[in-house]
Amino acid sequence: MKLNCLKNQAMIYIADASLFITGKRLEGEVITVPSVVGELRDESSRTIMELMNVRVEPPLRSFREEVRVKARVTKDSEELSSTDIDILAKALEYSEREETILVTDDFAVQNTAIQLGIKVMPAAQRTIKDVLLWEKLCIGCKRRFPEGDVCPVCGSPMKKVRKSKVK
Ligand SMILES: [Zn+2]
Repeated sequence: MKLNCLKNQAMIYIADASLFITGKRLEGEVITVPSVVGELRDESSRTIMELMNVRVEPPLRSFREEVRVKARVTKDSEELSSTDIDILAKALEYSEREETILVTDDFAVQNTAIQLGIKVMPAAQRTIKDVLLWEKLCIGCKRRFPEGDVCPVCGSPMKKVRKSKVK
């Protein structure tokens, strides 16, 4: 039937624990990784996961490696847990061949996903755009730069800070 055809082209959602905590309803296939399932402690989020008919797939090693490398470049690696890397790896794998959206409320995961070209969507209502990107603040001259560990102006170390809003 025609309906089946349409169903096959449905969106793929790769979800971390945020989705099962908020219980946001999605039209399409939901996939997660075993480490996310392991992190769901309460009964209600586990029930939500079962009701969503979620497919649980382990991440592939090659994609985990790709995520790690990218996260190191953006300095999000300090914020990412092993589970975060698993879910990013799964999202990266699918986004290379299908319409995929990563559902997460974790800012570091969202930020890394965007750097990897993965579409993201929050599970909760809040928007991510204000806090999406990080930048570096020089501890010496207080100048801000998009990246780097050492200030190109004064040579002082730089620390990771949330990007300030443009006036
Ligand atoms: Zn400086």
